[in-house]
Amino acid sequence: MMYVFGHLNPDTDAIASALVYAKLLRQQGTEAQAFRLGDLNFETAYVLRELGTEAPAMLPELAPGAEVALVDHNESNQTVGNIHELSVRRVVDHHKLGDLTTSSPPYLRFEPVGCTGTILLKLYREGNVQVDAQEAKLMLSAILSDTLHFRSPTTTQDDRDAVEFLAPIAGIQKVEEYALAMFAAKSDLGDTPADKLLKMDYKVFPFGDPVKPEEWGLGVIETTNPGYVFGRQAELLEAMDRAKADDKLAGILLSVVDILNETNRTLVISATEEKVIKEAFGVDTNDKIADLGHRISRKKQIVPTLEKYFAPES
Ligand code: MN
Ligand code: MN
Repeated sequence: MMYVFGHLNPDTDAIASALVYAKLLRQQGTEAQAFRLGDLNFETAYVLRELGTEAPAMLPELAPGAEVALVDHNESNQTVGNIHELSVRRVVDHHKLGDLTTSSPPYLRFEPVGCTGTILLKLYREGNVQVDAQEAKLMLSAILSDTLHFRSPTTTQDDRDAVEFLAPIAGIQKVEEYALAMFAAKSDLGDTPADKLLKMDYKVFPFGDPVKPEEWGLGVIETTNPGYVFGRQAELLEAMDRAKADDKLAGILLSVVDILNETNRTLVISATEEKVIKEAFGVDTNDKIADLGHRISRKKQIVPTLEKYFAPES
């Protein structure tokens, strides 16, 4: 049995791609089941509700040697704790390659596209497997989510082509309208506790010396209503302080991305982070906020800059 799952603090791509890839593997004769590594965010909950589909179950504790397929991630910091004891058989991903190692030859499919869903559609088409309405809507939702409906600089022509191919199969006539409904659902944060808001879309990255890396927690809140998030700024800064101490991080940042205006204003808790932001991005922090302009992609515009900044001198 192949356990298929996306990263911790799952987003729509992590959930949708696990469901879709498990289904594709089953259609191709492999016994496979989708799982998740955390609670659904509000956008993903909306997508599954629209589809009338159940969320995948939480991944149970896996015995050493269990066969797993990773989607939408590959780094050990972003996956199940005992990953090194498991047998990683497959990875389908669109992130940078991290510290992944395997004990036997894996199937790997990495492409520098905007979404894992875009790669999965290629696997369907390469395998001559028919895409049904449910999987089409899952892949399409993942692509709209990851690319912020093509606003993100991670967007490629393949992502646009995939949405154009999938929309009629998914029965979605008005893609723009559907994307806005997804983003509205994602932005409807209600009284979600600040700790949870911080970690809803949150990843820990090791920077610098690979033997003794500095670990930074990088959270993102993508929203159509940044005013709401900044209204809770004091609570969020406290949550960041706690997470930095509890998780023994070298630094922590929370980027508030205004989806419709394509801007990033990042919360900064201390002089440590302030210095890094100044030196890495050339941006000043005022009243705990660093205006990072149009750098809205953590993957393409934040992490690579920090990696370069922390890279050991050669
Ligand atoms: Mn993801
Ligand atoms: Mn993704």
